[in-house]
Amino acid sequence: MVRLRSRLARSQSSLGRGLLELLSRDRLDDDVWDEIEESLITADVGVAPTRAMVEELRTKVKVLGSRTPAEVRGLLREQLLAQINPDLDRSLHVQKHGERPAVVLVVGVNGTGKTTTTGKLARSLIGDGKKVVLGAADTFRAAAADQLQTWGERVGAETVRGPEGGDPASVAFDATAKGIEDKVDVVIVDTAGRLHTKTGLMDELGKVKRVIEKKATVDEVLLVLDATTGQNGMRQAQVFAEVVNITGIALTKLDGTAKGGIVISVQRELGVPVKLVGLGEGPDDLAPFDPEVFVDAILG
Ligand code: GDP
Repeated sequence: MVRLRSRLARSQSSLGRGLLELLSRDRLDDDVWDEIEESLITADVGVAPTRAMVEELRTKVKVLGSRTPAEVRGLLREQLLAQINPDLDRSLHVQKHGERPAVVLVVGVNGTGKTTTTGKLARSLIGDGKKVVLGAADTFRAAAADQLQTWGERVGAETVRGPEGGDPASVAFDATAKGIEDKVDVVIVDTAGRLHTKTGLMDELGKVKRVIEKKATVDEVLLVLDATTGQNGMRQAQVFAEVVNITGIALTKLDGTAKGGIVISVQRELGVPVKLVGLGEGPDDLAPFDPEVFVDAILG
């Protein structure tokens, strides 16, 4: 996995530079506070958490009396960290249950980076010495299964796929069976992200989960969310969160945006921790999410 710090530093630095410049102003008057608020909202931190943070920061700065930019930065750092909630459990649940593999279900809208994240996650688990099987349960697009298989070959994991247009649940079942037969540690199932109707999605993901649970346990349901899609992506993510019990978020494409504040809004909206972040298209461009490193990258 890549180092979160170096990769984020580049994409988030424009936000950091803006904030640092604002915090260094001689007078922190209403206009400056408005600008600080605006930069955070522009970075997708979300209106409500931004307002709450800026309000508290203003009060603290007032109480403090004199202040240096470093002191205000320290206070903002504390606020951002509190919003991210560093105490949430961000570990991936990928421990075997006796002879049975752990199963990770990867869900989300098409184009967010599900297949890529599945491939990168497999790479990282294999790097940790685990054996992995991939399930191509997006049977609606032949290209999706091909793409996953290519990832499998690249990182050293077998891919179970079905006929195009076949039943996604049957592929999920076969992948789980293959995982048990081959005594692997983790089965990762890449699902289709068609947001046709909510009930359609619910039926489909529900069935996928049920059939896997005939043979194993779904330990982790990772929702993949594209950081560059902002509030729109969030609304779509909400639909997934309503139909399936999400256990963690993989936030992709953070390398291509200064809108890292989405970490705060997505956790707040969905009540689920960001566990992984995608920082590029390569096999090693995935990192565990670290709140402190992240906040330091935002603040520059
Ligand atoms: P899916 O339809 O959800 O399975 O999405 P894909 O895995 O096919 O990804 C869609 C596009 O986003 C591909 O071109 C990926 O290479 C790209 N992508 C995925 N994750 C990242 C990331 O973290 N950073 C960048 N820059 N691109 C990504």
